[in-house]
Amino acid sequence: MTSSAELIELSELRSAHNYHPLPVVIHEASGAWVTDVDGKRYLDCLSGYSSLNFGHGNPKIIEAAQEQLRRLTLTSRAFYHDQFARFCAGLGDLTSKDMILPMNTGAEAVETAIKVARKWGYEVKGVEPDLANIIVMENNFHGRTTTIISFSTDPDAHDDFGPYTPGFRIVRYGSIEAIRDAVDANTVGVLVEPIQGEAGVLVPPDGYLTDIRELCTAEGILMIADEIQSGLGRTGQTFACDHEGVVPDIYVLGKALGGGVVPVSAIAANRDVLGVIHPGQHGSTFGGNPLACAVGNAVIEILSTGEYQSRAAKLGEVLHARLRELIGKGVVEVRGRGLWAGVDISPDLATGREVSKALMKRGVLAKDTHGSTIRLAPPIVVSEEDLLWAIDQLADALYEL
Ligand code: PLP
Repeated sequence: MTSSAELIELSELRSAHNYHPLPVVIHEASGAWVTDVDGKRYLDCLSGYSSLNFGHGNPKIIEAAQEQLRRLTLTSRAFYHDQFARFCAGLGDLTSKDMILPMNTGAEAVETAIKVARKWGYEVKGVEPDLANIIVMENNFHGRTTTIISFSTDPDAHDDFGPYTPGFRIVRYGSIEAIRDAVDANTVGVLVEPIQGEAGVLVPPDGYLTDIRELCTAEGILMIADEIQSGLGRTGQTFACDHEGVVPDIYVLGKALGGGVVPVSAIAANRDVLGVIHPGQHGSTFGGNPLACAVGNAVIEILSTGEYQSRAAKLGEVLHARLRELIGKGVVEVRGRGLWAGVDISPDLATGREVSKALMKRGVLAKDTHGSTIRLAPPIVVSEEDLLWAIDQLADALYEL
């Protein structure tokens, strides 16, 4: 087998440098653990940015994928296939929404929500042509397409990719007043991450989502919750909005919906909203394909028992309690909910990347975000023992730095 060093060198030579991976080359994985090409094992505390909530190689998901792979993989939406109805009905039930529009990646689902909100604005709300605006948040992360990065406040994501798509108003995250001030007669949607993941796992003040819900209802605006990273069990509930008992008008889902096997994303909304889309107005060759739907059906079934949500809640308490003990010992602040934490490292001690590298040497894979923050989001199948071991590695790594 080719060595890690050779594989890394070739990857760097022949791929665009749009990522800065940790120097580990993974060969196989099971549950919460991955193994590199040299046979060294690591506890996965990133979970493919929360795409692997149900673990690597989850038997139910793999079985569904294998069965479907053998039978039927692609039809395009020119025809029906036998996994589609179950997927839409199942995801509709999970979200308590009438209709589903399936896509592939998270960014595509966000684009879909934006298009639907605008069309709804013109056809239902009565906004004058081309005047619709959508309120978005500072430090948002919704994906990498040209329209989405048009309203990113991260210079790396945004700069030098113009000209930009107009029609977005950026306001401070966590402030309902800021949203209220930005609303006008042409506002069709408020697009919000219930917890801002890429920004460093920022949890908004209690009541924020409820306030957005009430404002949107009062003003006739669609509340669009991007639950791509926060949804599907990660925070200890099916959706992060559930913590406030809030139901948005549009759920935007992705990542874990594909079970860590295939890209599967979707938006879920009621008929009065999603009914604005008619044949030929939106689509995707691979969106809602048989393999994606079969995997999605396994994920929906897994979530329907509530077992993973409870486990994330229970293990989340362990994670946060133990991480809080590290405050003052190299850690400045800990945020998050459920099995998801943003840990701010004392900037004079080390960067997030330096801590991630030290963790890697100790057999824990985690990734930094924005300077001195690392995020921890192990697969929900992680054992309590392994979770505590990983935090011990963090404590020891910080002590040694
Ligand atoms: N929305 C949120 C909240 C995300 O965290 C991400 C990815 O990290 C996306 C959208 C984009 O998803 P994708 O990378 O699948 O396009």
